[in-house]
Amino acid sequence: MLRAHNFSAGPGALPRSVLEQTQQAVIELPETGLSVLGMSHRSAWFERVLDETERNLRELLHVPASYRVLFMQGGATLQFAILPMLFLARGGFAEYLDTGYWSAKSIAEARRFGDIRVPWSGAAQGYDRLPKASELTLSESAKYFHYVSNETVEGLQFHDLRGLSGVPRVCDLSSDFLARPTTVSDFALLYAHAQKNLGPAGVTVVIVHESVLEKIPEGLPTMLDYRRYVETKSIYNTPPVFAVYVTLLVTRWLRDEIGGLEAMEQRNAAKALRLYRAIAESREFYRSSILPRDRSLMNVTFQLSSPERARHFVAAAEARGLHGLAGHRARGGVRASLYNAVELESVDALADFMTEYALG
Ligand SMILES: *Cc1c(COP(=O)(O)O)cnc(C)c1O
Repeated sequence: MLRAHNFSAGPGALPRSVLEQTQQAVIELPETGLSVLGMSHRSAWFERVLDETERNLRELLHVPASYRVLFMQGGATLQFAILPMLFLARGGFAEYLDTGYWSAKSIAEARRFGDIRVPWSGAAQGYDRLPKASELTLSESAKYFHYVSNETVEGLQFHDLRGLSGVPRVCDLSSDFLARPTTVSDFALLYAHAQKNLGPAGVTVVIVHESVLEKIPEGLPTMLDYRRYVETKSIYNTPPVFAVYVTLLVTRWLRDEIGGLEAMEQRNAAKALRLYRAIAESREFYRSSILPRDRSLMNVTFQLSSPERARHFVAAAEARGLHGLAGHRARGGVRASLYNAVELESVDALADFMTEYALG
């Protein structure tokens, strides 16, 4: 049976083997004989699930011992709100790069609470490129520096580090977490929700250096205070047991079936190359407005000659089992999301379809 190909931008595709184990777990977990949906978050089983998920993340990313790994709810958007409450409670300002739809959201949210300065913005140019390190003049006195690793809507991705070594670097990795190796020690704090690359919606992973925890002001609501998650091992109230369990299965898949993040990156690069090549070989039938240096391996965006043409392409692709290709509602065009679980075979099917469609 031919499975439909899922290029959805989020929630994204999950590995077949993970879906099969999840299907089984919904009826009956092999370890407990009970449905995962009815498992107590206070059970020894769930404690082991959280422990192993953390261990696997630490192993995959080589997380240093001075960092804590937290499992939260509220998505990346709640992190947008927590960051200024934590770092700017005693005044000062933060610097944010404005590189696309999601960084603009993070800035708007942070401004509800604190003084946010934007040393570089791609908005006027329609977010078609990222700043080079040499273009940035950053402040040594910012309380933190924030950017988005992969702009999911535009299809822009940083391929090297930004920020100053003396200013805490904070990064939203929601759409490229575990898609390639990350040097955790470059950052004071990293966060990524699960639903793009890691699992179902419901859980957000925060990896935070212990020095940040010491700066947390008193009086934050419990659910916004990272220290409570450390103290309770992320079980202060009822955590999203199901989402964490599926995330565990994905970390096992990355370790055992893929062979780690270097191998994952190679696969992801091969997939993206296949599509960018199909765009380049189409002789302008498909057009990418993104500067090649900054193109994303995760979200490949392109336009056709008109918005109507793009809509027709998306519908025709869907009729062939190629799903989730409509560009973000804010941007239009076509977007193929090539998250970890999207197989090269699916990307080949899309690239072949693009060639055939361009020939008419
Ligand atoms: C999808 C996305 C978000 C929004 O995340 P929620 O979990 O829905 O709040 C934030 N940042 C990036 C980079 C995203 O891709």
